[in-house]
Amino acid sequence: MNRSTVWHPFTQHALEPPMKRIASTQGAYLTDEDGNRILDAISSWWVITHGHRHPTIMEAIRAATEAYDQIIFAEFSHEAAERLAEGLIGIAPAGLKHVFYSDSGSTAVEVAVKMALGYFHNQGEPRDRIVVMEHGYHGDTIGTMSTGERGVFNAAYEPLLFGVDRLPFPEANSEQDTLDRFEAFCRTGRVAALLIEPLILGAGGMKIYGATLLAGLKKIAEQHGCLFIADEVMTGWGRTGTMFACEQAGLTPDILCTSKGLTGGALPLAATLATGDIFDAHLSTDRRKTFFHSSSYTANPIACAAGVANLEVWRNEPVIERIRDLETAHRLNLLRYEADARFANIRQLGTIAALDLIVPAGGYLAKVGPHMRRLFRDRGLLIRPLGNVLYLMPPYCVTTSELEYAYDTIGEVAAIALEHAQ
Ligand SMILES: *Cc1c(COP(=O)(O)O)cnc(C)c1O
Repeated sequence: MNRSTVWHPFTQHALEPPMKRIASTQGAYLTDEDGNRILDAISSWWVITHGHRHPTIMEAIRAATEAYDQIIFAEFSHEAAERLAEGLIGIAPAGLKHVFYSDSGSTAVEVAVKMALGYFHNQGEPRDRIVVMEHGYHGDTIGTMSTGERGVFNAAYEPLLFGVDRLPFPEANSEQDTLDRFEAFCRTGRVAALLIEPLILGAGGMKIYGATLLAGLKKIAEQHGCLFIADEVMTGWGRTGTMFACEQAGLTPDILCTSKGLTGGALPLAATLATGDIFDAHLSTDRRKTFFHSSSYTANPIACAAGVANLEVWRNEPVIERIRDLETAHRLNLLRYEADARFANIRQLGTIAALDLIVPAGGYLAKVGPHMRRLFRDRGLLIRPLGNVLYLMPPYCVTTSELEYAYDTIGEVAAIALEHAQ
């Protein structure tokens, strides 16, 4: 058994071989210490957007280190944080006016929830319920686990998780049910906010729902004075085909969380964007109304410089064209599995494609995922199925032939995995 000194995330060390070291990264590839190249078909857990080590972003990081390292972000500001904030407000849905920095997707969501509660608390209105969607994922801290789907991943922590109100996932033809449930929760008058992953639930299994439903939820929230928090941690930065997924529903959330992709994936950074109303509810000569949140590394200047460079890449390079090409390549490659009886729910949203492998029995679910993961690795591919859900979310620099190879390999690996699962 491998009693690893380094304790890896989401890893059962008793079942995994010792970790391969990655020696370098470039574009769509990781290269391990033996010189094997691995196509990063999941963007290193969804963070790498343009490709690994994009030269503009790497250069900005180098340049920033000539000027500063970490700087306390209370009492002082710095150019990188201010330029990035202006840039974010410029590209975010119109109406978001303020940027609060933190370090990860989880903290961006924690900040959002605290802002929502603070908004009502500071106005003396007792609203304390958060509404979420079934199968949602918002992070791994106690607060974000509370708002996410409950299961084996958080069973041990269940006693500490706070209660939330859950909407049924809007399956085709039962969307009205989701809207009605939200309306019913809102009528209690206790709902502070709806916290939702717009258009696609990522870790919950790449489950896609429509922009009309999302817009419907926003409308109900408005009617009842509930805040609408968009967790765009995964969906931001072009993943769904638009800069932010909310654009497709034509809506501006009250609060928007972004992290993965904010620096092109190069450095950890997160931002929670808020409207003027949210900010103003915390603006007071009464110090008790301060927004009480910080972390030591808030607005790390080097990470912010990487974020500014990422905005430059979006401005100066044909990123949207790359996204369109990737969308087309996904669509064409998915076609070959449309009539394949081994797969169900073939789906795509922007640069994300997913399909479910039909496994003989649910009990095999636990085994089929890790088995396929190893088979992909043997074939030079980083693909990590979510149970029986296979998905691809590559960086936008991936070529058509690299993507084709990934799809070829999915067919081959599925055949082997199914044979073993019999
Ligand atoms: C990944 C993710 C998070 C958590 O982000 P971390 O940086 O891993 O803390 C939150 N929300 C969504 C939708 C995510 O995909």
